[in-house]
Amino acid sequence: VTSREDAAALDAADPLAPLRARFELDEGDRIYVDGNSLGRLPLTARERIAQLVDDWAERLVTAWPDWIEAPSRVGDLLAGACLGAPPGTVLVADSTTVNLYKLAAAALAARPARRVLVTDAGEFPTDRYVLQGLGEVRLLESDPVHGPDATDVVAACAPGDVALVCLSLVSYRSGALADAHAITRAAQDGGAFMLWDLSHAAGAVEVELEAVGAELAVGCTYKYLNGGPGAPAFLYVRRDLQDELRSPIQGWFGQRDQFAMGAGYEPEDGIARFGAGTPPMLGLAAVEAAVELVGEAGIARIRAKAAALTDLAVALGDERLAPLGFELGSPRKAVLRGAHVSFRHRDAWRICQALIARANVVPDFRGPDSIRFGLPPLYTRFVDVWDAVDRTATLVAAGEHHDFPAELARVT
Ligand SMILES: *Cc1c(COP(=O)(O)O)cnc(C)c1O
Repeated sequence: VTSREDAAALDAADPLAPLRARFELDEGDRIYVDGNSLGRLPLTARERIAQLVDDWAERLVTAWPDWIEAPSRVGDLLAGACLGAPPGTVLVADSTTVNLYKLAAAALAARPARRVLVTDAGEFPTDRYVLQGLGEVRLLESDPVHGPDATDVVAACAPGDVALVCLSLVSYRSGALADAHAITRAAQDGGAFMLWDLSHAAGAVEVELEAVGAELAVGCTYKYLNGGPGAPAFLYVRRDLQDELRSPIQGWFGQRDQFAMGAGYEPEDGIARFGAGTPPMLGLAAVEAAVELVGEAGIARIRAKAAALTDLAVALGDERLAPLGFELGSPRKAVLRGAHVSFRHRDAWRICQALIARANVVPDFRGPDSIRFGLPPLYTRFVDVWDAVDRTATLVAAGEHHDFPAELARVT
């Protein structure tokens, strides 16, 4: 049996433990295990936003020469800190949804003889919806716990009509980590572009975009990267394709000689052409500070701690939650997981509400039956995992979740 002292010993040996103090923390005894939906506030992000507000107040429009390069500057920072991508291949802009639209549309336009877009039936909704709006979608029916594999992708591409395969590297529901090399090769051998959605991977696991050779990627900055609510997302386009692909949004921030205010649209060279409109500077200021913290920690250490935190959650789940009707909804092997663990239970939604209202534990619910425990390594302690499971077991054993409604709320 794993004791709280065992968890405390892991904290004592944790090289990332000091970084927790670099975040805004809870006053009370709240256990926050939903950093995979919205990461905590880094203290430097608060400072950097305040500084940006001062710049706005004092310098007004004269600050733009210093601001205008932020999307590519922060993109380069992110590329080096945790995406395994070279400078000049990542841009921080727009939302993940909009970036996905831009890159998927560009891929379709570059493969005019192919009309099919492949994704997984269990893929994050916005990804499926965006692709449905662009063309015919072919859905993989992969294993709900382990996610898609290369065999699924080979079969989907076999008819020779696929322009793009779009999948999450880490599944938002189960936390399964896909085999980036094998799936990318399967898509490319099938004549399709590979687009990875890194929303639950960036800042949680080592991503090797250049080594993997994928053409395209997008992802969020407000989950494991801690960039703040609605922070601008990122997009990646492999360097050799940048001058061939075109954004369907012909905005002036993707225009060559932008301030020449020319008559017609002509895309800029390089990654800048995938920009659209004026960059959100407040959001970018926070993302820059947050990504610096990831770089300081080192993605290899972050990944190692994610494996250890989720291993502890799985072990405690077996000991304390399985006897109460929970089932592990994530892969058992740490190398096959990101930084969150899902537990399935028929009363998952009621349990989730009860945890927040009665036990001061904040996970989240993902239908139909999963409770996610997100364990961002920069600020999650091993004792937090122990306490979260302990409070969950105590609450469910007492039947407290029966006091909560089964009907879903507007936000889960
Ligand atoms: C969180 C997430 C998104 C969110 O997209 P937004 O445009 O920021 O709302 C998209 N895709 C995946 C896979 C996600 O996990």
